[in-house]
Order: sequence, then structure tokens, then C-alpha cells
Amino acid sequence: MKSLTTRRVCTTRPALLLFFMLAAACSRTPAETPSPRPIAVPKDASTLATVDAFVARHLVLDLTADFSARTLSGTAELRFDRRDPNATEVVLDTRDLKIEKVEAATGAGAWMATTHRLDAATPAFGSALHIAMPAGADRVRVAYSTSPGARGLQWLAPSQTAGKEHPFLFSQAQAIQARSFIPLQDTPGVRMTYDATIRTPKELVAVMAAEMEDVGPALSDGPHRVFTFKMPQAIPSYLIALAIGDLAFKPMSNRTGIWAEPSMVDAAAREFDDTEKMIVTTEKLYGPYRWGRYDILVLPPSFPFGGMENPRLTFATPTVIAGDKSLVSLVAHELAHSWSGNLVTNATWHDFWLNEGFTTYLERRIVEALYGKHMADMQAAIGVSDLAESRKTLEVAGDRTLLPDLTGRDPDDAFSNVPYEQGRLFLVFLESKFGRDAFDSFLRKWFDEHAFESATTDEFLAFLETNLLDTRPGAVTDAQIQEWLHTEGIPGFAVLPTSDAFAKVEQARDEWLKGGSMDALAKTASAWSTQEWIHFVDSMPRKMEASRLAALDRQFTLTESMNSEIAHVWYRLAIANRYAAAYPAMERYMIRIGRRKLIVPLYRDLAAYPEGLALANKIFAKARDGYHPLAQTTVADILKPKT
Ligand SMILES: [Zn+2]
Repeated sequence: MKSLTTRRVCTTRPALLLFFMLAAACSRTPAETPSPRPIAVPKDASTLATVDAFVARHLVLDLTADFSARTLSGTAELRFDRRDPNATEVVLDTRDLKIEKVEAATGAGAWMATTHRLDAATPAFGSALHIAMPAGADRVRVAYSTSPGARGLQWLAPSQTAGKEHPFLFSQAQAIQARSFIPLQDTPGVRMTYDATIRTPKELVAVMAAEMEDVGPALSDGPHRVFTFKMPQAIPSYLIALAIGDLAFKPMSNRTGIWAEPSMVDAAAREFDDTEKMIVTTEKLYGPYRWGRYDILVLPPSFPFGGMENPRLTFATPTVIAGDKSLVSLVAHELAHSWSGNLVTNATWHDFWLNEGFTTYLERRIVEALYGKHMADMQAAIGVSDLAESRKTLEVAGDRTLLPDLTGRDPDDAFSNVPYEQGRLFLVFLESKFGRDAFDSFLRKWFDEHAFESATTDEFLAFLETNLLDTRPGAVTDAQIQEWLHTEGIPGFAVLPTSDAFAKVEQARDEWLKGGSMDALAKTASAWSTQEWIHFVDSMPRKMEASRLAALDRQFTLTESMNSEIAHVWYRLAIANRYAAAYPAMERYMIRIGRRKLIVPLYRDLAAYPEGLALANKIFAKARDGYHPLAQTTVADILKPKT
């Protein structure tokens, strides 16, 4: 189908327009990708599934969303590459799934009943589902339903949405939560294509990180509207994504558009209208965008992440809609994952830096190309300071390195800035040694030669040696590479962002702190970007007179800032100084927003002193139900009494 990019979308959405906007969002991917090579799936500490005898290649989902029961129920069929003719069992990952029935089949043959056994649940990984495989069988079909508390799904009440009228559902499968809504081999070392049929209440729209098939009036089934999707590119399980809600679509270019609640769609399309330029910029650097469309789904504020790089359909927090495009590096980041992460994927969560370090490097290159070197330098400087702070909060030493030990742990417990910013610094170091042109060619080759494959750190190191290090022997030593991977700090030979990125901000800050006039500060600050504001507030002394804070607040309305990142650093400064005038607004912020990056440091700061801890508990009691299960766990962990 041709895309209908000029058609205006009306947010009142009569049925016919709904059809057109759905049609606009469904275009075919130019070429389907070949099946991945039958390489051995690397050992992954984060899965209970077996991957030696059977490797999933295609998934067929048929699920019905029940908002009153808060469940998805239906069937998941897995088609395997059978690698051992004598194998008699396949083991899948599940978490809190209710398994109704399991069948097996051979090729196109009929389904036959088979036996299964569900192991007791483990807190980190869920329950292994053992399925007996008859001789020759290479398909299974599992009838199941999810639990209302599924960790990979968040069911929002109408009151938690912008429109307040309809409920909302979204999934978040990364790192290991796909198993909480689909029984499968939940490891990024296994890639599969999929087809999905999703049945929703009639008034709602389903979207997936996949191609939406044609939608017509015929596609309704009793009380449900039926949506069908096709994912022709082989992806790992953590990139399967679904959302259902009162959604409208607005195109931005012939391959980009916004999905959002009707009241958000225009503001989001304005904020993100550089997206097409970002794609063109990235394609020039690292090769073609290979996923067909690139749309952005703007979620309600409880989304626990900034963004999630679900292929073809980035899921994004509304907290980056600042009105001035100042936080759109988030889109640069999620888009960059279309190369690093989605196209070439970390084979296990131990190799997470291959996804995030590369992506953070690419993100800053896109920002530099579109918004200039100064902006990229400022973001890099903020990144380095976030890295230092992140390391301070990590209790497991290995988590401060690029290669954490995830044995027996949910990878989410090791989640931090380290793979992002330390990984990026590693790549910046390599770029500095070999020159930007050579490094860009090297990266492009890495993406081209590993497209639609998963890779381990060792595979990257071997490729690095052959394709970059060997071109200039001695430029980088083996000891340096090892230090990058294993150090708990920033190596002394790292190339850090220029220290004058914020020189003017620091000068203005120091003058004001020494007694300079508010007028002079206000004049200078009137030209500041969001990043300069973040640095200004974040670098203020942690001991200030309340009157000085109040003066700043009066002048710049920081407590009531509509910019979520500036408000965040201001609340941290307020907590450090016990500036209680900011607390009521901070409390509203912590209840409204569920993005972990913005709320977790506030809880942590509050938890550090008794009155703060009491306030944090009070806020959490009100906010908890609105948070995603992942955010609930993170915050509960911070607030739990220390033994
Ligand atoms: Zn990322």
C-alpha cells in the first residue's frame, strides 16, 4: 500500500479517518531479511530456555486484550530450526503465565497434544516451561494467559492517561520481560520474525513494533476490533512490543510519524519533526536504515524509560516534550539503535555495552551533525558526570565495569549509565587513535557484516583487532583494551569532553555566588539551552542559604519548571539544601512521572536522611500504583529498611 502522507489526521477520529491514519502507518518494508545464519546461540546467564536442539525462527501470536481482567490471552506458536533430530524436549522461558494447553506439530502437519511441565518460579528468571517434543516435531503452540501483574506489561487506568477516558496498555520487554507475556526463548542470541493478531476493545487501537497490515471495517470480531501485524525482519525477543490505547497518528515525513493520544499528537509531531533529518544524517554515516518506517509512540508519563528502541516504532516518554526540541537527543538515541542494538544485537545482557555504548556514541554524532559540536560536547560532559554519579550508587563492583557478572541476577538489577557512557568513551578513544574517517568506516563495516545478527564482546574484539587495530600496530595496546573492559573507573588515557563546554555557565554561576546581581545572571541565562540550565543548577553548592535558593526560584520559576530535566536537577538541589518550598511541586512531579531516570535519584537523595526517607515513603505510597512494575521494584528497593 502507498503511504498517504498528506492526509491530515483529525484528533476527533471519525471511523473513516481512523482507517486512513492506520493505512498511512502501514507500508511494506522494501526487502525481507534473509534468515539468520545457523550459528550457535551463545550461552546466556539470563535465560532458562534451551537453545541447542531447537532455535525459534518464527513466532505467530494471537492475543486478546482484556482490560477489566488486565490480561492478554490466546496462543503463541513457535516454529523452530530443529538442530538435533534426537531431541525430545524444548524448554521455554515464562514468568507468571497461566499455561492452558500445549501442542506440537511437524512441518505443516496437524497439531497434536503433547505434555508439558512448568518448573517452580525463580525470582530472577521466572519458570522454565518444559515441552515434550515428539519425533520430528519442530513447532509448538501454547495456549496461555498473562497475569495481571505481568512485569513486561503496564495496564493503565483511564485516569493515568492524557485523555482520561480510555485505559492504556504498553509492553516493555527489555531486558528479560518478554517471557511475562509470551512463552519463548527469551535471549537476545535468538532472532525470529513474527506475525501477530491482536484483538482489542472496539474503541481502541493496537500498535506493534512491526508492520501494521491493512485495517478495514471487516476486521472486527464480536466485541473486538482486530489488528494484524507482520515483522519480516528477524529480531530478538526483547524487541517485541505492543501498545493499545486511544491512539491517533500524525505523519511527519513519508516514513516517519507520531502515534500518541489525540491530545498529545500535535505537540509531539512538532517536537520531533527533525526525525527525518536524523535518519538521513545517520544513513550517511552508517549505511541505510533497514526497517522501513520509523514511527514514534508517545506513551503516558508512567513509562519507566526515556525511550525504548522497538524496531520501526520507538516508544518514548512524554517527559522529553519540552516545547523547544531541547531533549530530542532521545530520538537520536533510539534511532541510532536501528543500527547498534536492533541490527547488530548484544548476544547476551553481559554484552549490553555493545548496544548502549555504541548507541550513545552514535547519538552524540547525530546531535553533533544536526545541532553542532558545542551541543554534543555539553551532552558528553553531562554524560561523564552522570557516569561518575552512577558508579557511586552501584553496590556490585562488576557493575561498575563494562562486563558485569549477571549470574543468577535479573539484568535489570545491574542497569546503570556505565554501559552507555563508559562504552561511548571507549569508542571515542578508538576514534581518537585512528581518526574519524577510519573509525566511521570501521563502524559501518561492523554494522554491514553483522546485520540482523547478535554478537558477543569477544566477537567484537576479534573484529576490532582485524579491522582496526591491525591497521596501525601499536596505536592501541592490549592492556588499554583490557582496562576499558574491566576498570571500575575512567581510564587515565580516556579522551574526555572539552572542559570548557560549560565555561560561560560556570563563570556566570561563580559571579552570582560571589554576590553578583540577579539582573546580570538573568541577562546571561536568557540565552541558555536546557543543557546549560541543567549544568548551572546541578553544579550549585549543596549548601546554600534558603534565601538564595528562593531568589533563584523567584527569578527563574525553577520549582514549577515545565522542563522535566531542569525540574529534576532543581529538586535534587532542593533536597540537598532541605529547601522545603520545592517539595509540594516535587511530590506532584514524582507522582505524575514514572520515568526512572527522573524519579529514582530523587528517592535515593531523600532516603539518605530520616525526614527525607519519611517524605519519600509518603510520596511512594501515593505514586506506587501509577508506576510501572520495574519502577516500583527499583524504588521499593531504595526505600526498604537496610539490614
Ligand atoms: Zn539505548
